[in-house]
Amino acid sequence: MRIVILGAPGSGKGTQAALLVEQLGVPHISTGALLRNAAKRGTELGLQAKSITDRGELVPDSIMADIIEERLGRDDVANGFILDGYPRNLAQAKSLDAMLERLDKPVEEAIHIDVDPEQIIRRIARRAEEEDRSDDAATTVRNRMRVYAEQTAPVASYYAERGLLTRVLGDGAKEEILQRILSVLNTSAATA
Ligand code: ADP
Repeated sequence: MRIVILGAPGSGKGTQAALLVEQLGVPHISTGALLRNAAKRGTELGLQAKSITDRGELVPDSIMADIIEERLGRDDVANGFILDGYPRNLAQAKSLDAMLERLDKPVEEAIHIDVDPEQIIRRIARRAEEEDRSDDAATTVRNRMRVYAEQTAPVASYYAERGLLTRVLGDGAKEEILQRILSVLNTSAATA
């Protein structure tokens, strides 16, 4: 199963991707987590990325392409992956397609988690208190939402045009949302 999870910041992509790992047994690849780990380790790339993510901007596509190419080249992705946080703009979507075409492993499903913006702002404010993510500060969140609307939302249309997109309502209990996603994956596996 090769799946891309899409959704606004705070839509619950990361949470659902982690739950899906238990169900599907393929790795969860979160570019946000990869960048945060690099920053924590204090690598040059990590520190460079942190100053960008703290402003709510996107890390340059060429850097992200290198990170994702290295990650997708590892053995544990032989049976698939759940991609969370990538692609985040159309250039990244095209670059991912080209990369996966070379490996003969195209994206099979794109799931977009729909949550209304009011609820997102409430969720992120709560996460800022619980998790201490420096990019969850209120001013940065506003910028992330803008970047999402301008650059990432078109990625959903990109997959929709290719017949790969399903939208799932991201409202309700975590388990409920997980069941919605699993039923989409079951349906598409049955018709494949
Ligand atoms: P969220 O989806 O809640 O914004 P993420 O953990 O996915 O959180 O990403 C945090 C930040 O990491 C983003 O705001 C961005 O700055 C950076 N980032 C993550 N993935 C990418 C990407 N594919 N391209 C560019 N920047 C990225």
